[in-house]
Amino acid sequence: MHNGHRRLARGTALAGLAAAGLAIAHAGPGLTAIGPVRRLAFPRLAGLGRPDHVALTFDDGPDPASTPAFLDLLAVRRLHATFFLLGSMVARAPRLAAEIAAAGHEIAVHGWDHRYTILRGPGAMFSDLARASDAVSGATGARPRFFRPPYGVLSSGAVMAARRLELTPVLWSSWGKEWAPGATPDSVFASVVADLTGGATILLHDSDCTSPAGAASAALGALPWLLDECSARGLAVGTLAEHGLGASRPGVRA
Ligand SMILES: [Zn+2]
Repeated sequence: MHNGHRRLARGTALAGLAAAGLAIAHAGPGLTAIGPVRRLAFPRLAGLGRPDHVALTFDDGPDPASTPAFLDLLAVRRLHATFFLLGSMVARAPRLAAEIAAAGHEIAVHGWDHRYTILRGPGAMFSDLARASDAVSGATGARPRFFRPPYGVLSSGAVMAARRLELTPVLWSSWGKEWAPGATPDSVFASVVADLTGGATILLHDSDCTSPAGAASAALGALPWLLDECSARGLAVGTLAEHGLGASRPGVRA
């Protein structure tokens, strides 16, 4: 549940940013100043990629109640996206995780449990991320290359764990806020478009498992309009790998 933790995210993330230069805020309402900070200081972490391209990413799945509708829409539009899967969700729906990969989408990891990384020690963080990566690889046959921490809060322990597992942390630069109570396709569209630029990484959720009921539905309703908007602006839509974020990490094959 995002809203209950927003205040906590704000405090811990700002403290971490000051102390270690690593923790980046989960930019909830009222925290918009962090967006430009993130984009300027950590463009790669913010998911800023090719200027003629937009990366489309989904968090919190796979969810049998909602993910298939996203897959259907993306198939109709002949587009691929990056899915940040939760290990705990993969364990419940391994076949759906496999379907996402088989459809050509990029598989990434969102951790096992949807918990703040900043509240966990380095050992626990590594165990969580390794377990999630193994579950994702086992179900999909694809080795995840990207990691997005729950709530977008990246602790130093999470950074170290990701490095050991050869996972690149990526947050986002534009989001739908469909987890906000009362979100609608219109509100999701408006929120994404407010920060939509060439090179953006869009965050949407294909599951309600950490959000109020209806969040994924609001995101799904906005998605065709967002794709049309990108098309009208001449921006291609695809995965993080296609976004140009995967090539600069030495020692790891693209
Ligand atoms: Zn999440």
